[in-house]
Amino acid sequence: MDSSPTQTQREKVEAWLRYFNDLQLGAFYTDRRTVGKRIMKPAMENAPAATPTPKPPIAAASPKAPPPVSAALPIVNEASLFEAIDRIEGDTLERIREDLGECTRCQLHLQRNKIVFGVGNPRAELVFVGEGPGHDEDMQGVPFVGRAGKLLTQMIEAMGLQRELVYICNVVKCRPPENRKPEDVEMATCSPFLYRQLDVIRPKAIVCLGATAAQALLKTKDSISRFRGKWFDYRGTKLLVTYHPAYLLRNPAAKGDVWKDLQQVMAHLGLKTKRNSS
Ligand code: URA
Repeated sequence: MDSSPTQTQREKVEAWLRYFNDLQLGAFYTDRRTVGKRIMKPAMENAPAATPTPKPPIAAASPKAPPPVSAALPIVNEASLFEAIDRIEGDTLERIREDLGECTRCQLHLQRNKIVFGVGNPRAELVFVGEGPGHDEDMQGVPFVGRAGKLLTQMIEAMGLQRELVYICNVVKCRPPENRKPEDVEMATCSPFLYRQLDVIRPKAIVCLGATAAQALLKTKDSISRFRGKWFDYRGTKLLVTYHPAYLLRNPAAKGDVWKDLQQVMAHLGLKTKRNSS
């Protein structure tokens, strides 16, 4: 019998955990050895730095005093429940591709030519996530090989990297007809495969290309203007949102903003700026 939680069960558990977190009960289900690290780590780089809480004075030892709560709780050296909830032990990109199979889970399969799973280095420190395949990608089964893809390759090279060193994938693995934005149900059906890809690769940074990727990973409906150029935390990995290269083809004036965003990523990865992007 399949004992893995359904999407609804998972959402309910996540809602409860968020509620417990709001009540400051996080430490009861989080690995307490890393609690300090997690709390100090801002979800957003631009968020104001946390003010350290002064430690309470150490009370004189009393034989009647109960042991501190932390001493009574087991120390777990694992990811917090939030992070562990749907990680699959021993997962691999090959297994994810196998599980995806010749997918017919949503209507996008009806018009697709090839599934576009993802390409690149399975141990990449940097992952780019786009929206979904276009015509060229659908024909070749490889992400970002059309005009927008060529621009993405130039962006990667301007960072001093090569395409083969990074990993590139999309939220949906089949081309939406007429390159329309994927529908919510299509994203919800396909994005678990993306989550698994990211869990397996565990990069140092994720760059979301455009609003759709950001909305899928940050689980928000906000517009890109709310999060472009800012750092977020995605299950312990730094995630930055920038404009989609297809947008840059229509609005070349936005290339400067994208270059600034990529420079932030380079700084995070310890890459040196070689030249200015144009
Ligand atoms: N646009 C995307 O979002 N992904 C691709 O693979 C190609 C174009």
